Amino acid sequence: MTWRRRRSGKGAAQLKRLARVLFNIAAVLSLILCVASAAFWVRSYWSIDQIIYQPSRDSYDAYVDRGACSLRWIEHNGYAERRWRFYRDSPPPPAYPKMAHPPPESTERRLGGFWYEYGSIMRGPWKTGALSYRAVVLPCWALTVLFLLLPTCALLHRLRARRTLRRTAGGLCPTCGYDMRATPERCPECGWERC
Ligand SMILES: [Zn+2]
Repeated sequence: MTWRRRRSGKGAAQLKRLARVLFNIAAVLSLILCVASAAFWVRSYWSIDQIIYQPSRDSYDAYVDRGACSLRWIEHNGYAERRWRFYRDSPPPPAYPKMAHPPPESTERRLGGFWYEYGSIMRGPWKTGALSYRAVVLPCWALTVLFLLLPTCALLHRLRARRTLRRTAGGLCPTCGYDMRATPERCPECGWERC
């Protein structure tokens, strides 16, 4: 029984280490995406960047335009020559805010920049017809904040681990920082016990 328990304890420790490694990799990838999304956010006021993927008839594309990221799905009736296409445009003059890339046709946004729209390129939003589309608009700040969450958690975790180590080394309680030199096995302040 003891042997079994010890073995499962070792397995749990390995699993925990693997989880930590995966978490760190995810945090680094998330940080890269965070920096990239912030860079595209700033860039979007000078340049509209668009990527289109059209594997068959339907096309899927994303573009960043003046602080907003639009994801679209368009039902086409023809095939594209190239599967992947990239375009770069200058933002249109302020008098024609929707000139560059409709749909979405609507310039209305909810909750700080979110929007969903479906419709037909030929007949307009909320209508069915040829070249039907669905479009989701996300503000760039939302993507940057989303990608910042994991790196922030990783940083806080690291800082807390460092503080615990420093307190333990100095004879202090790792939880509350109380001086434990007189009672090294148990913190009289918060009840923390050394295992
Ligand atoms: Zn304590």
